[in-house]
Amino acid sequence: MSLKRIAVMTSGGDAPGMNAALRAVVRTALYHGLEVYGIHRGYAGLLRREIEPLTSLSVGGIINRGGTILRTARSEEFKTPQGMQTAVQVLNEFAIEALVIIGGDGSMRGGVELSRLCDVKIMGLPGTIDNDIPGTDYSIGFDTAVNTALEAIDKVRDTAYSHERVFVIEVMGRHKGFIALEVGLAGGAEAILIPEVPYDMVDLLERLHDSYHRGKHSSIIVVAEGAARAEDVKKFLQEHTPYHLRALVLGHMQRGGAPTAFDRVLATQLGVHAVQRLLDGHTNEMVGVEGGRLVSVPIEYIQTATKTIDLRKLEIATMMAI
Ligand code: ADP
Repeated sequence: MSLKRIAVMTSGGDAPGMNAALRAVVRTALYHGLEVYGIHRGYAGLLRREIEPLTSLSVGGIINRGGTILRTARSEEFKTPQGMQTAVQVLNEFAIEALVIIGGDGSMRGGVELSRLCDVKIMGLPGTIDNDIPGTDYSIGFDTAVNTALEAIDKVRDTAYSHERVFVIEVMGRHKGFIALEVGLAGGAEAILIPEVPYDMVDLLERLHDSYHRGKHSSIIVVAEGAARAEDVKKFLQEHTPYHLRALVLGHMQRGGAPTAFDRVLATQLGVHAVQRLLDGHTNEMVGVEGGRLVSVPIEYIQTATKTIDLRKLEIATMMAI
Protein backbone atom coordinates (compact mmCIF):
# COMPACT_ATOMS: atom_id res chain seq x y z
CA MET A 1 0.00 0.00 0.00
CA SER A 2 1.49 3.31 -0.98
CA LEU A 3 1.78 6.21 1.44
CA LYS A 4 -0.63 9.12 1.33
CA ARG A 5 -0.14 11.15 4.48
CA ILE A 6 2.87 11.66 6.70
CA ALA A 7 3.55 13.86 9.71
CA VAL A 8 6.73 15.47 10.97
CA MET A 9 7.74 16.86 14.35
CA THR A 10 10.75 18.32 16.14
CA SER A 11 11.24 17.12 19.70
CA GLY A 12 13.51 17.44 22.73
CA GLY A 13 16.40 19.90 22.76
CA ASP A 14 16.44 22.26 19.78
CA ALA A 15 19.37 22.16 17.38
CA PRO A 16 20.42 24.45 14.53
CA GLY A 17 19.50 22.74 11.26
CA MET A 18 16.22 21.27 12.49
CA ASN A 19 14.43 23.76 10.24
CA ALA A 20 16.50 22.71 7.25
CA ALA A 21 15.61 19.07 7.98
CA LEU A 22 11.94 19.94 8.33
CA ARG A 23 12.03 21.80 5.02
CA ALA A 24 13.65 18.82 3.31
CA VAL A 25 11.12 16.35 4.73
CA VAL A 26 8.15 18.52 3.71
CA ARG A 27 9.38 19.29 0.21
CA THR A 28 10.47 15.73 -0.56
CA ALA A 29 7.08 14.46 0.56
CA LEU A 30 5.24 17.08 -1.50
CA TYR A 31 7.46 16.33 -4.50
CA HIS A 32 6.25 12.74 -4.30
CA GLY A 33 2.61 13.74 -3.99
CA LEU A 34 2.20 13.06 -0.27
CA GLU A 35 0.24 15.14 2.20
CA VAL A 36 2.34 16.46 5.08
CA TYR A 37 1.18 17.44 8.54
CA GLY A 38 3.32 19.32 11.01
CA ILE A 39 3.02 18.50 14.70
CA HIS A 40 3.84 21.45 16.94
CA ARG A 41 5.81 21.09 20.22
CA GLY A 42 6.89 17.46 19.81
CA TYR A 43 5.13 14.70 21.72
CA ALA A 44 3.44 17.28 23.97
CA GLY A 45 1.76 18.85 20.94
CA LEU A 46 0.85 15.45 19.54
CA LEU A 47 -1.12 14.68 22.71
CA ARG A 48 -2.85 18.08 22.44
CA ARG A 49 -3.63 17.63 18.71
CA GLU A 50 -1.50 20.65 17.70
CA ILE A 51 -1.38 19.40 14.14
CA GLU A 52 -1.79 21.24 10.84
CA PRO A 53 -1.12 20.63 7.16
CA LEU A 54 2.15 22.04 5.81
CA THR A 55 2.79 23.42 2.36
CA SER A 56 5.99 24.22 0.52
CA LEU A 57 5.47 27.83 1.55
CA SER A 58 5.18 26.88 5.25
CA VAL A 59 8.84 25.89 5.17
CA GLY A 60 10.05 28.78 3.00
CA GLY A 61 12.77 31.08 4.29
CA ILE A 62 13.81 28.81 7.15
CA ILE A 63 16.88 26.98 5.84
CA ASN A 64 19.08 29.60 7.50
CA ARG A 65 17.17 29.84 10.78
CA GLY A 66 18.27 28.20 14.02
CA GLY A 67 15.75 26.63 16.38
CA THR A 68 12.61 25.08 14.97
CA ILE A 69 9.50 26.78 13.55
CA LEU A 70 7.41 23.84 14.75
CA ARG A 71 8.70 24.59 18.26
CA THR A 72 9.84 21.78 20.48
CA ALA A 73 8.99 20.48 23.92
CA ARG A 74 9.55 17.75 26.43
CA SER A 75 6.64 15.65 27.64
CA GLU A 76 6.57 13.41 30.69
CA GLU A 77 2.93 12.60 29.98
CA PHE A 78 3.83 11.01 26.66
CA LYS A 79 5.94 8.42 28.48
CA THR A 80 2.99 7.14 30.54
CA PRO A 81 0.81 4.26 29.24
CA GLN A 82 -2.13 6.68 29.01
CA GLY A 83 -0.02 9.21 27.11
CA MET A 84 1.20 6.57 24.66
CA GLN A 85 -2.34 5.44 24.08
CA THR A 86 -3.50 8.99 23.39
CA ALA A 87 -0.58 9.51 20.98
CA VAL A 88 -1.57 6.44 18.96
CA GLN A 89 -5.19 7.51 19.01
CA VAL A 90 -4.38 11.02 17.71
CA LEU A 91 -2.15 9.67 14.92
CA ASN A 92 -5.00 7.38 13.83
CA GLU A 93 -7.57 10.19 14.12
CA PHE A 94 -5.53 12.27 11.66
CA ALA A 95 -4.95 9.22 9.45
CA ILE A 96 -1.19 9.68 9.74
CA GLU A 97 0.54 6.72 8.08
CA ALA A 98 4.12 7.66 8.80
CA LEU A 99 5.82 9.92 11.34
CA VAL A 100 9.22 11.55 10.94
CA ILE A 101 10.71 12.48 14.32
CA ILE A 102 13.51 15.02 14.29
CA GLY A 103 15.21 15.02 17.69
CA GLY A 104 17.77 13.67 20.08
CA ASP A 105 18.31 10.42 21.88
CA GLY A 106 15.18 10.77 24.06
CA SER A 107 12.98 11.58 21.07
CA MET A 108 14.29 8.50 19.25
CA ARG A 109 13.43 6.39 22.32
CA GLY A 110 9.93 7.81 22.15
CA GLY A 111 9.87 6.66 18.50
CA VAL A 112 10.90 3.16 19.54
CA GLU A 113 8.03 2.99 22.03
CA LEU A 114 5.54 4.27 19.46
CA SER A 115 6.75 1.77 16.87
CA ARG A 116 5.92 -1.05 19.29
CA LEU A 117 2.39 0.20 19.86
CA CYS A 118 1.03 1.10 16.44
CA ASP A 119 1.29 0.54 12.71
CA VAL A 120 2.33 4.10 11.96
CA LYS A 121 5.67 3.93 10.19
CA ILE A 122 8.30 5.62 12.31
CA MET A 123 11.39 7.30 10.84
CA GLY A 124 13.90 8.99 13.14
CA LEU A 125 16.16 11.83 12.08
CA PRO A 126 19.03 12.62 14.49
CA GLY A 127 19.01 16.27 15.52
CA THR A 128 20.99 17.23 18.61
CA ILE A 129 24.01 19.41 19.25
CA ASP A 130 25.36 16.68 21.58
CA ASN A 131 26.15 14.29 18.70
CA ASP A 132 25.61 11.38 21.09
CA ILE A 133 23.29 9.25 18.95
CA PRO A 134 24.71 5.92 17.73
CA GLY A 135 24.11 4.94 14.12
CA THR A 136 25.31 8.21 12.64
CA ASP A 137 28.68 9.95 12.57
CA TYR A 138 27.01 13.34 12.87
CA SER A 139 23.71 14.60 14.17
CA ILE A 140 22.20 17.83 12.94
CA GLY A 141 23.34 20.85 14.95
CA PHE A 142 26.64 19.50 16.23
CA ASP A 143 28.79 21.28 13.68
CA THR A 144 27.04 24.59 14.28
CA ALA A 145 27.31 24.27 18.08
CA VAL A 146 31.01 23.46 17.81
CA ASN A 147 31.62 26.47 15.58
CA THR A 148 29.60 28.77 17.84
CA ALA A 149 31.57 27.65 20.90
CA LEU A 150 34.80 27.96 18.97
CA GLU A 151 34.06 31.52 17.97
CA ALA A 152 33.50 32.40 21.62
CA ILE A 153 36.71 30.63 22.66
CA ASP A 154 38.72 32.43 20.00
CA LYS A 155 37.49 35.73 21.39
CA VAL A 156 38.30 34.72 24.95
CA ARG A 157 41.78 33.66 23.80
CA ASP A 158 42.54 37.25 22.80
CA THR A 159 41.81 38.55 26.25
CA ALA A 160 43.44 35.53 27.92
CA TYR A 161 46.63 36.28 26.03
CA SER A 162 46.59 40.03 26.63
CA HIS A 163 45.94 39.76 30.36
CA GLU A 164 47.95 36.55 30.84
CA ARG A 165 45.02 34.64 32.26
CA VAL A 166 43.85 31.07 32.37
CA PHE A 167 40.25 30.61 31.26
CA VAL A 168 38.24 27.56 32.22
CA ILE A 169 35.44 27.34 29.67
CA GLU A 170 32.44 25.09 30.19
CA VAL A 171 30.64 23.80 27.12
CA MET A 172 27.51 21.69 26.78
CA GLY A 173 27.61 17.91 27.14
CA ARG A 174 25.94 16.43 30.21
CA HIS A 175 26.74 12.83 29.37
CA LYS A 176 29.16 12.97 26.46
CA GLY A 177 32.18 15.05 25.63
CA PHE A 178 31.84 15.31 21.84
CA ILE A 179 31.44 19.10 21.81
CA ALA A 180 34.21 19.64 24.38
CA LEU A 181 36.65 17.40 22.52
CA GLU A 182 36.03 18.97 19.13
CA VAL A 183 36.05 22.52 20.44
CA GLY A 184 39.09 21.89 22.64
CA LEU A 185 41.06 20.45 19.77
CA ALA A 186 40.05 23.21 17.36
CA GLY A 187 40.55 25.92 19.98
CA GLY A 188 44.02 24.79 21.03
CA ALA A 189 43.03 24.02 24.63
CA GLU A 190 45.68 23.25 27.21
CA ALA A 191 43.44 20.52 28.62
CA ILE A 192 40.04 19.03 27.81
CA LEU A 193 37.91 17.42 30.52
CA ILE A 194 35.18 15.06 29.29
CA PRO A 195 32.82 12.72 31.17
CA GLU A 196 34.19 9.64 29.38
CA VAL A 197 37.71 9.96 30.77
CA PRO A 198 38.59 10.26 34.47
CA TYR A 199 40.90 13.16 35.14
CA ASP A 200 43.18 14.14 37.96
CA MET A 201 43.14 17.73 39.19
CA VAL A 202 46.69 17.44 40.51
CA ASP A 203 47.79 16.35 37.05
CA LEU A 204 45.99 19.35 35.59
CA LEU A 205 47.76 21.59 38.07
CA GLU A 206 51.15 20.20 37.08
CA ARG A 207 50.38 20.66 33.41
CA LEU A 208 49.50 24.27 34.05
CA HIS A 209 52.70 24.85 36.02
CA ASP A 210 54.78 23.20 33.31
CA SER A 211 53.33 25.28 30.54
CA TYR A 212 53.72 28.47 32.62
CA HIS A 213 57.38 27.73 33.16
CA ARG A 214 57.80 27.12 29.45
CA GLY A 215 56.68 30.71 28.99
CA LYS A 216 53.01 30.16 28.26
CA HIS A 217 51.20 32.68 30.42
CA SER A 218 47.69 32.20 29.10
CA SER A 219 45.72 29.03 28.60
CA ILE A 220 42.31 27.72 27.78
CA ILE A 221 40.91 24.70 29.59
CA VAL A 222 37.74 23.28 28.07
CA VAL A 223 35.38 21.27 30.28
CA ALA A 224 32.22 19.44 29.31
CA GLU A 225 29.46 20.30 31.80
CA GLY A 226 29.11 16.59 32.65
CA ALA A 227 32.79 16.27 33.57
CA ALA A 228 33.16 19.27 35.87
CA ARG A 229 31.80 22.73 36.48
CA ALA A 230 34.05 25.52 35.24
CA GLU A 231 33.68 27.38 38.53
CA ASP A 232 34.86 24.36 40.60
CA VAL A 233 37.88 23.77 38.37
CA LYS A 234 38.75 27.47 38.58
CA LYS A 235 38.44 27.48 42.38
CA PHE A 236 40.70 24.47 42.79
CA LEU A 237 43.35 25.81 40.45
CA GLN A 238 43.15 29.26 42.03
CA GLU A 239 43.82 27.83 45.48
CA HIS A 240 47.01 26.18 44.29
CA THR A 241 48.45 28.62 41.76
CA PRO A 242 49.37 32.29 41.54
CA TYR A 243 47.82 32.62 38.07
CA HIS A 244 44.84 34.76 37.21
CA LEU A 245 41.95 32.46 36.54
CA ARG A 246 38.51 33.05 35.08
CA ALA A 247 35.59 30.71 34.61
CA LEU A 248 33.13 31.03 31.75
CA VAL A 249 30.00 29.02 31.05
CA LEU A 250 28.97 29.30 27.42
CA GLY A 251 25.48 27.93 28.10
CA HIS A 252 22.52 28.19 25.78
CA MET A 253 24.20 30.37 23.17
CA GLN A 254 25.65 27.08 21.88
CA ARG A 255 22.21 25.92 20.80
CA GLY A 256 21.27 28.95 18.75
CA GLY A 257 22.23 30.72 15.58
CA ALA A 258 22.16 30.07 11.87
CA PRO A 259 23.21 26.52 10.97
CA THR A 260 26.56 26.07 9.24
CA ALA A 261 26.68 24.96 5.61
CA PHE A 262 27.64 21.49 6.86
CA ASP A 263 24.53 21.22 9.05
CA ARG A 264 22.22 22.59 6.34
CA VAL A 265 23.50 20.10 3.79
CA LEU A 266 23.42 17.23 6.28
CA ALA A 267 19.89 18.15 7.36
CA THR A 268 18.71 18.36 3.77
CA GLN A 269 20.27 15.03 2.83
CA LEU A 270 18.87 13.29 5.91
CA GLY A 271 15.42 14.81 5.39
CA VAL A 272 15.30 13.59 1.81
CA HIS A 273 16.67 10.19 2.81
CA ALA A 274 14.10 9.78 5.60
CA VAL A 275 11.16 10.29 3.25
CA GLN A 276 12.79 8.19 0.53
CA ARG A 277 13.19 5.27 2.94
CA LEU A 278 9.51 5.53 3.87
CA LEU A 279 8.50 5.64 0.21
CA ASP A 280 10.64 2.57 -0.41
CA GLY A 281 8.61 0.73 2.22
CA HIS A 282 11.04 0.86 5.13
CA THR A 283 9.83 1.58 8.62
CA ASN A 284 10.97 1.93 12.23
CA GLU A 285 14.40 3.17 11.28
CA MET A 286 16.67 6.08 11.98
CA VAL A 287 18.58 7.67 9.13
CA GLY A 288 22.16 8.79 9.49
CA VAL A 289 25.46 9.34 7.79
CA GLU A 290 28.46 7.06 8.12
CA GLY A 291 31.76 7.55 6.37
CA GLY A 292 30.09 10.15 4.14
CA ARG A 293 27.32 7.77 3.04
CA LEU A 294 23.64 8.01 3.88
CA VAL A 295 22.60 5.01 5.94
CA SER A 296 19.78 3.83 8.16
CA VAL A 297 19.59 1.58 11.21
CA PRO A 298 16.63 -0.07 12.94
CA ILE A 299 15.43 2.55 15.40
CA GLU A 300 15.96 0.13 18.34
CA TYR A 301 19.67 0.38 17.62
CA ILE A 302 19.80 3.61 19.61
CA GLN A 303 18.75 1.66 22.72
CA THR A 304 21.33 -1.09 22.42
CA ALA A 305 24.34 0.77 21.07
CA THR A 306 26.36 3.62 22.51
CA LYS A 307 28.37 6.12 20.59
CA THR A 308 32.00 6.11 21.60
CA ILE A 309 34.26 9.09 21.54
CA ASP A 310 37.49 9.11 19.53
CA LEU A 311 40.07 9.03 22.32
CA ARG A 312 42.89 9.50 19.85
CA LYS A 313 41.67 13.07 19.48
CA LEU A 314 42.20 13.60 23.21
CA GLU A 315 45.73 12.22 22.92
CA ILE A 316 46.39 14.55 20.02
CA ALA A 317 45.09 17.53 22.00
CA THR A 318 47.47 16.62 24.87
CA MET A 319 50.32 16.28 22.40
CA MET A 320 49.55 19.72 20.98
CA ALA A 321 49.76 21.25 24.46
CA ILE A 322 53.44 20.40 24.86
P1 ADP B 1 16.19 14.77 23.23
O1 ADP B 1 15.30 14.19 22.19
O2 ADP B 1 16.81 16.06 22.80
O3 ADP B 1 17.18 13.76 23.77
P2 ADP B 1 14.61 14.39 25.65
O4 ADP B 1 15.52 13.35 26.21
O5 ADP B 1 14.07 15.40 26.59
O6 ADP B 1 15.27 15.21 24.46
O7 ADP B 1 13.39 13.61 24.97
C1 ADP B 1 12.34 14.32 24.33
C2 ADP B 1 11.01 13.68 24.68
O8 ADP B 1 11.00 12.33 24.15
C3 ADP B 1 10.71 13.50 26.15
O9 ADP B 1 10.17 14.65 26.73
C4 ADP B 1 9.71 12.38 26.13
O10 ADP B 1 8.42 12.85 25.83
C5 ADP B 1 10.21 11.50 24.99
N1 ADP B 1 11.01 10.39 25.52
C6 ADP B 1 12.26 10.44 26.00
N2 ADP B 1 12.68 9.24 26.44
C7 ADP B 1 11.65 8.39 26.25
C8 ADP B 1 11.43 7.01 26.50
N3 ADP B 1 12.38 6.24 27.05
N4 ADP B 1 10.23 6.49 26.17
C9 ADP B 1 9.28 7.25 25.62
N5 ADP B 1 9.41 8.55 25.36
C10 ADP B 1 10.57 9.13 25.66
